[in-house]
Amino acid sequence: MQGHTIVLQRTVQPARLPNTARKAQAVLTTVMFLKTLLRPLTAAALTCLLWTASSAVAQTAPEMKLQKVGPQTYYVEGLAALGSPANQNFISNAGFVVARDGVVVIDSLGSPALAQRLMEQIARVTNKPVTHVLVTHYHADHIYGLQTFKAKGVQILAHRAALEYLNSETALQRLEASRTDLAPWVDAQTRLVKSDRWLDGPATLELAGTRFVIEPVGPSHTPEDLAIYVPSEGVLFAGDLIFNGRLPFVGKANSAQWIGALDRLLTFDAKAVVPGHGAASTDARKDIGVIRDYLGYLRKSMGQATQDMLPFEEAYKATDWSAFEHMPMFQFANRMNAYNTFLLMEQEGMKKP
Ligand SMILES: [Zn+2]
Repeated sequence: MQGHTIVLQRTVQPARLPNTARKAQAVLTTVMFLKTLLRPLTAAALTCLLWTASSAVAQTAPEMKLQKVGPQTYYVEGLAALGSPANQNFISNAGFVVARDGVVVIDSLGSPALAQRLMEQIARVTNKPVTHVLVTHYHADHIYGLQTFKAKGVQILAHRAALEYLNSETALQRLEASRTDLAPWVDAQTRLVKSDRWLDGPATLELAGTRFVIEPVGPSHTPEDLAIYVPSEGVLFAGDLIFNGRLPFVGKANSAQWIGALDRLLTFDAKAVVPGHGAASTDARKDIGVIRDYLGYLRKSMGQATQDMLPFEEAYKATDWSAFEHMPMFQFANRMNAYNTFLLMEQEGMKKP
């Protein structure tokens, strides 16, 4: 997913949130109110107050449960939700491989606190140090935890195409908005962390003594998409090319290339595929098929609308969404996905002779 869900997040009514999330949000709202009231308080008192708020939220934060997908490979699954203070922005997956000489992590989750919790989970299965983090793409929910790993001297690797986003005004604005919308989990100390090593093309790397096959599969969901295959484990980390059991967030993706990249993922013939969102898949062909069908349907329906010169609103209303509307995240993502595809199809139409 990407950060402009933050805008959508404001439209979520408290009544729609689960009980625990409502409680956590109430705690935060109270603290923000108290903070305004108690401005003259000393910094120490305020810190204490905020710490109390953080721990109150932590008590109701979503569970982070380690799941094993290979002999030495694990992942944690984020919620099918928009990022919020109540869920600490735990809406994406992260995984790790206990390699020969250390631990290689794939993605860093959506806040430094989540990354810390992930490190604690890692320490439960091994006392080897984390040596590398591979970043599948630079969307906020996958990278706001990077600084926690960086502080431990962990080497970060990503595709060079991420630099364009990282150097953009958009990335800074999104972080700034998140400091409000995801407080206190994303705050003034949260920063964008660049990779220590930029990859330019496909690579097979020995990381901590274990072989990782790294395949650029962008521009699909993002220009910098990486798929990571671990042959000794038979596990493929697909990043946000796969949302399993929930509607994907298409954003400004190139959906034609995304569909092509899904076919490339199948060629790895992995025993298990860890997606960027949703549960790991042991039937990649079927689960990839759902995304391919959805992207194909977006392109077909919105492509036809642009050919018929229909305005977007009219086209959206006239489209039959019944095959997808039961999927989690439909109400948050579908309209935006359709609109972005509509614009993309217009552009593609203009390029045709
Ligand atoms: Zn994403």
